[in-house]
Amino acid sequence: MIVLKNQEFIQRDNAKTDIEDRGYTFGDGVYEVIRVYNGAFFMLKEHLERLQFSLTETAIPYDTDSEDLGTLLNQLVSKNQIKNGAIYLQITRGIAPRSHPYPKQTPPQLYAYPIPVSSPVDAQQNGVSVTLLEDRRWLRCDIKSLNLLYNVMAKQQAKENGHFEALLYRDEAHITEGSSSNFFAVKNGTVITHPANNYILNGITRLAILKVCDQLGIPFEERELRIRDLESIDEAFLASTTSEVVPITEVDQQKIGDGKAGEITSRILEGFKELIRQADV
Ligand code: PMP
Repeated sequence: MIVLKNQEFIQRDNAKTDIEDRGYTFGDGVYEVIRVYNGAFFMLKEHLERLQFSLTETAIPYDTDSEDLGTLLNQLVSKNQIKNGAIYLQITRGIAPRSHPYPKQTPPQLYAYPIPVSSPVDAQQNGVSVTLLEDRRWLRCDIKSLNLLYNVMAKQQAKENGHFEALLYRDEAHITEGSSSNFFAVKNGTVITHPANNYILNGITRLAILKVCDQLGIPFEERELRIRDLESIDEAFLASTTSEVVPITEVDQQKIGDGKAGEITSRILEGFKELIRQADV
């Protein structure tokens, strides 16, 4: 495997992290997972824009344009001959003696490398169950930060209880998103998803789905949902780069709608696949 380290391509065995890398000591860094279909990136521009947003918000001095990151990432895909999969990329604030304040003149450290990803076809066709868990993350979930400890703990609890995902809620039962996905509901033909604010990550798949809704003439609303709203919705689904669109058929043993993958959800999944095919030309 070929790895991109800053501006250089190296062998995987030579890719080592320093013990004083702030990503390692503080989780002081940001990341992206970018899908590759048929040898080409899907929505690379949007991922780079979100990455720059995360870098700016955390004041990590790295400029994706002046580093020509898009070109480097395309080279990484060709060097690894990736046909279908994804690139994981992270940028930390750099290597410095452990001390909370930001170090001065420390160059950020970038690593990017391929990870295997394939579409969860069974889950996409038959739907999945999710479990509700309290959202105990910080209040800047719009930054794609390396600090994923609560996300990891929530996912583990969901898995141990036989669920595909943890559906997170805050305060008075305000549903935010999944531990690694965005949440969508469908009610009376309208798609509803959380507004893109500090409570959620503005998923690139989420953006793609809103585009698909536009193309298919499916109305959508960006507004908060409460746990009690789950009783009256017709369909629900999750969306992420790695899972694409996955219908939710049950929330903690309670059926959503008729307990089957929803019709509008399936149309959106088809529309999403069409968007991938269009991006491929
Ligand atoms: N929310 C969270 C918390 C996530 O970790 C992810 C996936 N990384 C998403 C939403 C979905 O984002 P995307 O569509 O960009 O993968």
